[in-house]
Amino acid sequence: MLSDFNLEGKTALVTGASSGIGKEIALVLAEAGADVAVAARRLDRIEETADEIRGLGRRAVPIQADVSDSQQVDDMVSQATESLARIDILVNNAGISGGGPLVPLPDGEANSQTSRRLADDTWHRVIDTNLSSCMYVNRAVAPQMLERRSGKIINISSTSAILAEPYGSAYQVSKAGMKMLTKTLANEWGQFNINVNAIGPGWFVTEMTDDGLNVPGKYQEAVSNIPLGRLTNLRDLGLLAVYLASPASDWMTGQIIYLDGGETAIYN
Ligand code: NDP
Repeated sequence: MLSDFNLEGKTALVTGASSGIGKEIALVLAEAGADVAVAARRLDRIEETADEIRGLGRRAVPIQADVSDSQQVDDMVSQATESLARIDILVNNAGISGGGPLVPLPDGEANSQTSRRLADDTWHRVIDTNLSSCMYVNRAVAPQMLERRSGKIINISSTSAILAEPYGSAYQVSKAGMKMLTKTLANEWGQFNINVNAIGPGWFVTEMTDDGLNVPGKYQEAVSNIPLGRLTNLRDLGLLAVYLASPASDWMTGQIIYLDGGETAIYN
């Protein structure tokens, strides 16, 4: 491996590492050499991720936490820091989908998704889990990075930060908020040698998208909007995270990199 991509001796904290993108990123960071603290609400699932990381010969620390609760985030970061001595790499990945139209539309097709007024708690759940959590975790990890004048932060946003699908306001606003938080923090912390970047995944098959992609015709529709004409594996996201976590990306900050088979190249 090129030494510029080597993460040996580095430590990482990955949120939402009990499944999907977060689990894969945690495993590929470990493959590149990092010891990794993995956090989520489902303890049995993060213990499985931790076992797989140990199988790669790296240290792993499973931490149960709900990232929409700032006190739990502070405790999670303390536990990760105590166990691994420090956090060099932070991946803010935990997230949920959800939403619907603000109000039912006249003459709109009525189904359970579109026939209700958007509930306050739906809006807050999505914003708190995706966006507020990102601020909480950045806020909790930054002091040690600022003190050491070193750190790599990767926020997992989405192509939804820039593609305005109907009925997706809560999710899309949360992901657009992560994009601006990334740029603002890159500007605040750049002088202290902290890189803050985001990845904007396109369609990836995970627990979150399984239902949506299984709607008849949806998979074909998703693929038809992608210039490369296919979806890809989660590993591609892990490899991009290794780049953003490694010295290879030392001069990159404040960027949102869309890994989407080219979808945003046509629609953005
Ligand atoms: P998954 O549903 O597989 O993973 C979501 C992860 O977030 C799980 O590990 C879940 O763990 C965790 N999580 C959810 N809520 C909380 C919470 N309150 N506290 C702690 N952890 C939480 O979906 P994906 O892997 O697809 O999603 C990962 C990220 O990627 C999300 O931010 C999503 O928005 C983003 N993304 C996904 C895309 C896709 O096509 N799949 C496209 C663009 C962006 P647990 O339930 O155990 O807490």
